[in-house]
Amino acid sequence: MTPAMYPESVITQMTNQNEVALGKHVHPRTRAECLELDHADPLAWVRDEFDLPDGVIYLAGNSLGALPRIVSDNLHGLIQSEWADGLVRSWNTAGWIDAPRRVGDKLSGVLGARPGEVMVADSTSVNLFKVLIGLLRLRSDRRIVLTEEGNFPTDLYIAQGVVDLLGGNREVHAVPRAEIPGSLDCNVAVLMLTHVDYATAEMYDMQALTQAAHEKGTLALWDLSHSAGAVPVDLTACEVDTAIGCGYKYLNGGPGAPAYVFLAERWWGEVQSPIWGWMGHAKPFDFDPMYRPDAGSGGFIAGTPHMLSMAGLEAALDLWTRIDRDQVWRKSRALSELMIRRIEERCDAWGVSVASPKDATRRGSHLAVQHQQAYPIMRALIDRGVIGDYRPPDVMRFALTPLYTSFANVWDAVEHLAEILESRSFEAPEYSQKLKVT
Ligand SMILES: *Cc1c(COP(=O)(O)O)cnc(C)c1O
Repeated sequence: MTPAMYPESVITQMTNQNEVALGKHVHPRTRAECLELDHADPLAWVRDEFDLPDGVIYLAGNSLGALPRIVSDNLHGLIQSEWADGLVRSWNTAGWIDAPRRVGDKLSGVLGARPGEVMVADSTSVNLFKVLIGLLRLRSDRRIVLTEEGNFPTDLYIAQGVVDLLGGNREVHAVPRAEIPGSLDCNVAVLMLTHVDYATAEMYDMQALTQAAHEKGTLALWDLSHSAGAVPVDLTACEVDTAIGCGYKYLNGGPGAPAYVFLAERWWGEVQSPIWGWMGHAKPFDFDPMYRPDAGSGGFIAGTPHMLSMAGLEAALDLWTRIDRDQVWRKSRALSELMIRRIEERCDAWGVSVASPKDATRRGSHLAVQHQQAYPIMRALIDRGVIGDYRPPDVMRFALTPLYTSFANVWDAVEHLAEILESRSFEAPEYSQKLKVT
């Protein structure tokens, strides 16, 4: 296809580097206009880097990112040449031993961190446990972990468990979102928030809240599970103390991919992991009987890296180094704005509403769409190949991951939704039976 085949106006909009161009002024009115935008999309090539089944519109990349082709290639290579042939030598020859730092450094570009500040290890839940204890011990004269009552359950549970473990009258203070700034006072040891809400996609002002926390002597811990690879993040500019997050959502590391920990350089040697594993030791292969932690963020690596899943995440992050992130954020907004508008135009009559903020600067890269019958409607959508997910009580989530979602995908997904609502096909009894994973 040559550019001459597309209307001049569309080309101009797509090539304009001004954020407003794609974010605000491109409003395709027809499916054909969506296809034109897709042809002119500077990120169109990235979709071919993913192994996606034909006929599927995949809108669950905030739950499990799709498979980058390079990941399958690298995993096959690792299994044969590094594991089967290299055997134990590969800890040195293939650099397995350095993977938590090396992959962490690859991720630091996406997070706005400095080299050595990010380590890849364990799961988000376990990393939260380690970091939260480290922070509470540093602020041992304070009792409160301040968080939001609607935070992701594992974050709330881990905080409850940590407070139970440490004792000393410590408490988790979980308040409504609007009460967070007013609840910061000199009793708060840690402000623990998820940057982009897992349900509504509402995004906090990381810089303002971190600064407000610091003014009270409170340390900030951000969960970036729905942020990394979805929205711009600059941990250095925001002066964030610590952060954690998942590797398997927008970063596409694969099911159960290892998670990450960010510890700002100024806290190295001060914030300590409570899990004193040998891989967090300054010199694991000295086999020193006494624990001496790594001088940097490395103390947060507890045990042997999970090399198979680590290799998946590393390959997926290599893809990110070839992508212009500003283009990603712009396209995310444009896709979301298209979906919001189409849902309002096509589905309003059936009691469907968009629960995510309409203001793109306060929103992540997915949309929460509410309906009383959200669960059976989502099951009917999945049966048609439109894959999103459901969160109680009444939310359908649609991730608009710009790497492999097209404007035509969004258009078609809303058409399917409207047809399901109109025909009431979601009322089929099998759609009401909850599966284990929703
Ligand atoms: C997905 C998610 C997690 C998941 O934690 P795991 O330990 O990987 O199961 C944690 N926190 C938030 C905010 C999430 O969105």
